[in-house]
Amino acid sequence: MGKFNRYLITAALPYANGPVHIGHLAGCYLPADIYVRYLRSKKADVKFVCGTDEHGVPITIKAMKENVSPQDVVDKYHKIIGDSFAAMGISFDIFARTSAPIHHQTSQDFFLKMYNDGLFEEKESEQFFDPEKEMFLADRYIVGTCPNCGNDKAYGDQCERCGRTLSPDELINPHSALSNAPLVKKKTKHWYMPLQNYEPWLKEYIVDGHKEWKNNVYGQCKSWLDSGLQSRAMTRDSNWGIKVPLPDAEGKVLYVWFDAPIGYISATKELTENWADYWCKDDTKLVHFIGKDNIVFHCIIFPAMLKAHGGFVLPDNVPANEFLNIEGEKVSTSRNWAVWVNDYIEDFPDQQDVLRYVLCATAPETKDNDFTWKDFQDRNNNELVAVFGNFVNRAMVLMHKLCGGKVPSLHEAFIEDTDREMLKEFGLAKEKIENSLENYRFREALAEVIEFSRKGNIYLQQNEPWILASVIENLNNGTWNEKHDKYKGKTEEYLRARIDISLHIALQMTANLAIFSHPFLPFTSRKICHLLKVVDRMLEWDNAGSDKLLSVGYSLRAPELLFKKIEDEQVTAQVQKLHAGLKQAQEAAAAAAPPAEETIPAPAKPEIQYDDFAKLDLRVGTILQAEKVAKADKLLKLLVDIGTEQRTVVSGIAMHFTPEDIIGKQVTLVANLAPRKMRGIESQGMILMAEDNGKLIFVNPAEAVKPGSGVS
Ligand SMILES: [Zn+2]
Repeated sequence: MGKFNRYLITAALPYANGPVHIGHLAGCYLPADIYVRYLRSKKADVKFVCGTDEHGVPITIKAMKENVSPQDVVDKYHKIIGDSFAAMGISFDIFARTSAPIHHQTSQDFFLKMYNDGLFEEKESEQFFDPEKEMFLADRYIVGTCPNCGNDKAYGDQCERCGRTLSPDELINPHSALSNAPLVKKKTKHWYMPLQNYEPWLKEYIVDGHKEWKNNVYGQCKSWLDSGLQSRAMTRDSNWGIKVPLPDAEGKVLYVWFDAPIGYISATKELTENWADYWCKDDTKLVHFIGKDNIVFHCIIFPAMLKAHGGFVLPDNVPANEFLNIEGEKVSTSRNWAVWVNDYIEDFPDQQDVLRYVLCATAPETKDNDFTWKDFQDRNNNELVAVFGNFVNRAMVLMHKLCGGKVPSLHEAFIEDTDREMLKEFGLAKEKIENSLENYRFREALAEVIEFSRKGNIYLQQNEPWILASVIENLNNGTWNEKHDKYKGKTEEYLRARIDISLHIALQMTANLAIFSHPFLPFTSRKICHLLKVVDRMLEWDNAGSDKLLSVGYSLRAPELLFKKIEDEQVTAQVQKLHAGLKQAQEAAAAAAPPAEETIPAPAKPEIQYDDFAKLDLRVGTILQAEKVAKADKLLKLLVDIGTEQRTVVSGIAMHFTPEDIIGKQVTLVANLAPRKMRGIESQGMILMAEDNGKLIFVNPAEAVKPGSGVS
């Protein structure tokens, strides 16, 4: 533990406007829980805090749409999210809420201290105001006519028809998406934090001081700092949130990213009266587990706030994970492309550890990773069932069959090299797992646990106590099986001792597996303890690596399987469920969309089968370069980034777009179209366009996605 005497571990506050999906679990809750369980097993002084983030515009919008109060929305999802975490064994010491009075008080005090120290800039600006709803609107909730293509349903931040990025001021006839009322401009005052003032200090703290942070985290921080920080408003106009505690601040609340991280402090306050030990003493190790979308808030803004306020420890590490995709596609809650944790628990009751296992074994620790149901099945059947579960079961079954249900002796006089080597692995495995856990490399640590049980299987295979038992039988009834010739001449005493030794060691390994697996698979670990009739205290990390956890002669319970096979039908059902959810969301969106304008539909083409469609490799790409092709007024030569590579595409769109207009736009590319030479240039794909009365429009996703994302 070095210079630290206590730990404060936080996991990102989930936003209380929907349930959590397995991408959330893999991103931060599971790694945080693994780390905390390990620390607790080392008897470290540790607090694990989390809670729901219950403020911000999306919650007020959701409430309006469902015709309930924002409080109703957050009450509902706080419960759903909290129940999901509890069911998955995420062992928070507290799961608080940012709507709690203690959090409001703590956040206001924090703001006031900074205000009184003169650390905010007051600035006035003109913003769009909905006179009917009596509220200022975020860009997404302003609609109007696009100056580029004439779409009268363009948003204040983007036109989804032509893809142009917009600001609300560019819209013609801006009106409210909530009330449809025409908007007025109103002056409004806000308090800004001049982040640029903290730049030199942040560089010292992160760039020089925390080179050990994960590459993805360190790199993102460095690029933010290199491109320069700016003042950022820490207040908003809203009636849902924490009131700005100043006399001239009617209708103003704290920016949700100002108050949310303070939620870690208020949750600790709610948890223990000794909260200040964890927040204000230098020998506390503060670690924030988050997903990569929160890096800037946890590594730049929150530390700057803590520094500005003064008196707080700073994060020692922020081990953010990348994203987990599902079946090759980015998770999208709006498209309902997600595996929801509450659904999983319903479909796989008592199999929480399988999900914990798979999410840890495939965790997106260094890059985005993919979850597939097939892989879920394979890992369960080939690793948990066939390796880990099989070893424990063999040890238990053989001990009951050959040793009378009791831990057999370790006959010192008959110990051989294979035993000594196996015993040496106890300490080595502990060391490796510990080292990986200390460095937040959870996949590596888990792989080592499985490796230990794999070695156990090999050890039993080499020592084959079941064969030794039948050799003893041969000796006693005067028969011989020539397959056992290698044991010819061995005495019964020797054979009996060898049976005992191999099962003694296998059982001590089983006890170690309970300790090793506990941070990752707490439910399984408990089951092993039950089989071995040991109390939870055995799970203390100090006991790991010991070959004396079970005493000779101690009787153990009857074997029970730790894991069960997952069948093909279960996998198929889950994949179908995923696609059904997607379709449902699409139909709901189509039903909610305004009726299409009058158009002359293109003549229909003959019906095709799904397989015809599936042959197309459609990918989203970003146009990096565009230039006219010499002597061809219709052609543009484009360079398109599709994630894994950059493609040159020649497209007949030069009469419709100028090169400058389309650089940076996202397009859909037919990526497996056979290359074709046009004007001496090889075109490596085709870009999809929609045609509206002779006008061409790019076909692109409604939200920007990662280049290379598949379209299906
Ligand atoms: Zn437009």
